[in-house]
Amino acid sequence: MYDVAVIGAGVVGAFCARELKKYDLDVVVAESADDVAAGASRANSGIVHAGFDAPAGSLKAKFNLEGNRLMEEVCRELGVKFYRNGSLVLAGKGQEEQLRALFERGIQNGVTGLRIVGREELAAMEPNVAEGAQSALYAPTGGIVCPYGLTIAAMGNAMDNGAALECGFKAVSAERCKGGWTLHAASGKTLSARIVINCAGYGSEQVAALFGDSSFRIGARKGEYMLLDRSCGGFVRHTMFSLPTAAGKGVLLTPTADGNVLVGPTSVEQAEYDTSVRREGFDDIRAKACLLMKDIPFSQTITSFAGVRAYSDRHDFIVEWSAACEGLFHVAGIESPGLTSAPALGAYAAKQVAEKLGAGKNSTFDPVRRPQHWFRSLTDEEKNEVIARRPEYGKIVCRCEEVTLGEIVDAMRTNPPARTLDGIKLRTRAGMGRCQSGFCQPGVFDILRSEYGLQADEVTKNGGKSFVIAGGEL
Ligand SMILES: Cc1cc2nc3c(=O)[nH]c(=O)nc-3n(C[C@H](O)[C@H](O)[C@H](O)COP(=O)(O)OP(=O)(O)OC[C@H]3O[C@@H](n4cnc5c(N)ncnc54)[C@H](O)[C@@H]3O)c2cc1C
Repeated sequence: MYDVAVIGAGVVGAFCARELKKYDLDVVVAESADDVAAGASRANSGIVHAGFDAPAGSLKAKFNLEGNRLMEEVCRELGVKFYRNGSLVLAGKGQEEQLRALFERGIQNGVTGLRIVGREELAAMEPNVAEGAQSALYAPTGGIVCPYGLTIAAMGNAMDNGAALECGFKAVSAERCKGGWTLHAASGKTLSARIVINCAGYGSEQVAALFGDSSFRIGARKGEYMLLDRSCGGFVRHTMFSLPTAAGKGVLLTPTADGNVLVGPTSVEQAEYDTSVRREGFDDIRAKACLLMKDIPFSQTITSFAGVRAYSDRHDFIVEWSAACEGLFHVAGIESPGLTSAPALGAYAAKQVAEKLGAGKNSTFDPVRRPQHWFRSLTDEEKNEVIARRPEYGKIVCRCEEVTLGEIVDAMRTNPPARTLDGIKLRTRAGMGRCQSGFCQPGVFDILRSEYGLQADEVTKNGGKSFVIAGGEL
């Protein structure tokens, strides 16, 4: 019997687990996929929002502000790249009033450093800004972070501090047991806990229903992206937004924490979860992005992807004890700015649960994750030093991103361990470069086989039945 079971290993579930381990609690995270960051936390804009967008007084506004404030320290502890590059919301002729309203909402929400800049200053800040942009709302507290890197690191830190992770555990029913709940997985596995936290993203309405709670609905809205090569890294410094509309924050253009340029997302209502990308989506992105910047180097697009926003019919985050069911806490309907808010949401949920269970502080909690070597970013001297200690760091496996065998081995031996090609990719960037794994995939494939003693036809791209080859021997 665990004290707490968290359902869902996205960024919200990962931060709930990490924050729960700051208390004297036994924690398990149950995730239906074969790895963490399988849902919205894997495919989003990676923006740490300043907090001027959410309606004043909403939970979104509250947790956005708090999450933004915490992000720097959290990323330092977890060894995750985070940059406060600042954001700019552009306005054309006749849009000054809307821009002013956004500025005032930001002030009301408590965002610091906001100011409106004119065309001249804007052009100095962003030389490639579109001609139509006359002024902009500048938010120096806006930032960028790698979303799946943050999720993996938060879960890893929770695990290093004793949290358990059960991947491949799709919760399909829940029944009362003495002192708590027993969760049943589609695989037949079970686990029991005194309290359950629902962090299931798009699945959170279904998870609530397992407990007889039908107090909210979750809808799906797809967002497609185009990712430009790192060689375009200097094209834009700030995160560039247009004015928000009823459909959301719209298409944006931003540097990523790893030095690429990201353009998107679209906004497409879905009947069900679907992460395919469409040609019309790219046309839409191109047309809207050109209102932000001129001469965007779209020819340098190296990949495209889509993420699905899980929004609630309450149009705000749902962060509360279930009224229908004792012992169930929801952190649901977490659409944007959920990535930004995750550290604050985790801290709040953990405090509620710890108080309920009367748990004290965990005096042995270590917030610092074992630092990873990002070989590419080391100096030659540092590289030589690492190679002298760990010769596997002297062998490059992914040439585009300069990822070494040492980094790949570490990704399989560090919590939460990578077990698939995508798992290695998300942790090390092997396969994320210009050739999109054309060169390094066979190498990574062999490393996975030898680490886990797998047959060739047992290696998967992302778990389940996503086998890379069928039958035969290599
Ligand atoms: C296109 C897009 C752009 C965005 N941009 C930003 C941004 O720039 N900045 C920002 O702050 N936020 C952004 N967001 C929002 C942010 O990505 C989400 O708020 C955040 O990732 C939600 O995390 P989560 O853990 O709640 O959900 P998820 O990451 O979806 O995790 C939920 C997990 O629950 C698991 N699960 C579901 N059902 C079950 C079950 N029955 N049993 C076990 N496990 C289950 C799923 O497999 C999944 O791994 C964006 C979102 C999208 C889609």
